[in-house]
Amino acid sequence: MSRAPVDHPNAMRLVVELASLYVACDDCGHSRVLDLNSLKKAAALGVHNYMQLCRKIRCSECPKVPVSARNLTIRPTWVAESVYTVA
Ligand SMILES: [Zn+2]
Repeated sequence: MSRAPVDHPNAMRLVVELASLYVACDDCGHSRVLDLNSLKKAAALGVHNYMQLCRKIRCSECPKVPVSARNLTIRPTWVAESVYTVA
């Protein structure tokens, strides 16, 4: 667990708290959104918190590179922030 993004305030939040995750590759410009199903799949594979998830994500268009060499922009949408219900 070297070079963990420990300064990230959401690092320890759980994958199951995510509503969706926007990922853009700064190298090739490819972007995608991981929806709830993809996130649940990741959680089922043993990815529990946001920090672990970020380390798993890579661009599907670019060659495999170490986490430290990836240039990804990752924007999470948390369930609590995306859901506003009116009683
Ligand atoms: Zn890419």
